[in-house]
Amino acid sequence: MREKLFRFMQGRYGAYGADRLTRFLLILFLVTFVITSFIRLPFVGLVPTGIAMYAYFRLLSRNVPARYHENEVFSRVSSRFLGRISHVSSSIEQRRRYHIYKCPGCGQKIRIPRGKGRIMVRCPKCTQEFLKVS
Ligand SMILES: [Zn+2]
Repeated sequence: MREKLFRFMQGRYGAYGADRLTRFLLILFLVTFVITSFIRLPFVGLVPTGIAMYAYFRLLSRNVPARYHENEVFSRVSSRFLGRISHVSSSIEQRRRYHIYKCPGCGQKIRIPRGKGRIMVRCPKCTQEFLKVS
């Protein structure tokens, strides 16, 4: 049985293990499967089915370079997307803890912790001093 499965998978994309896109499709399948089971509408059940069929198609495909390329494109797009999310969430966190002021002399952005009252700020770039309330 194991031998048969091994021979069946030989030369197919899935023989190399689950790539990033396959793992994403699996998660997407589970999420859409749970969500659509609560939605009583015709055809919504086809969404997880379609995702599962695509995942199987990729695993059983003999066109390894094409599947490899799909995964490459997916990895590039998803890492760019994740990078943007982490950038936005870290800048929100910064805004909560710090004031960002611009130096009136040179326009340099300066980060000042909040809640310190009236303080003199010295620009690290041009050494100009200015009064701010943090
Ligand atoms: Zn300055």
